Amino acid sequence: MMFNITESFIRLLLFWGVLFLFLSLEIMIPYRPSSVSKVKRWINNLALTLFNSILLNLIFSTAIVYTATYAQANKLGILSMVQAPTWLKILVTVAFMDFMLYVWHLLNHEVPFLWRFHRVHHSDLNMDVSSATRFHIGELAISAVIKISLIFFLGASPMGVLIFESALVLCAQFHHSSLKVPKSFETLWWILFVPPSMHRIHHSVKIKERNTNYGTIFSLWDRILGTLLTSVDQVKIRIGVGAYHKPDKLNFHQLLVMPFTKPVK
Ligand SMILES: [Zn+2]
Repeated sequence: MMFNITESFIRLLLFWGVLFLFLSLEIMIPYRPSSVSKVKRWINNLALTLFNSILLNLIFSTAIVYTATYAQANKLGILSMVQAPTWLKILVTVAFMDFMLYVWHLLNHEVPFLWRFHRVHHSDLNMDVSSATRFHIGELAISAVIKISLIFFLGASPMGVLIFESALVLCAQFHHSSLKVPKSFETLWWILFVPPSMHRIHHSVKIKERNTNYGTIFSLWDRILGTLLTSVDQVKIRIGVGAYHKPDKLNFHQLLVMPFTKPVK
């Protein structure tokens, strides 16, 4: 119970702290000027974020921590069968969960039913830190069920799960941010992780560019599985989904019903 409260507090603090840090930096040193109203996009994206976090926190956050606590106490899962230092088990947890997220993300693009939900995220007309949590609750609910099963299968510890979830939020907020990042830093970051330029290609309206660069924390999975794309002129990238180009058709309630409207590529 105590871990649950501390865990929720740390996650909330990290999420809002980093969100406002990146928002301030985006305003001071933007990667490029917004093509549509930032305020209107922020209202929609934050409404979706708040709506999701209130409902999902109520249903899934406790279940995720409970699963990890239960698996650890009862020595369940693959990790309980091996003798290894705690830091190594945490590293394996982060790498394994991130790889499964890569697979899940790829499926969200390739399976038409899943794309119906995932297109809500991609329909954002500009990409910035608020895009990182612009997801339809249907996609998050399915992924939470899968996540709980994976934690159980792996026997991930509550600490391992907390570190993975925190890294996930920080990396997703960073690579969605519309921030001018020094080239030298991006080049270094790219060796192991996903920089904004790599994820910007993933948000391109061009389907060939969109169906690449699925990684969230590590860039390794895209490298070894052939889905990495780097040779794109960043200046020419137009963000969004071709069928959704009118900002006034992308309000909060329209985003909520989008998965149940006509399919688009
Ligand atoms: Zn995607």
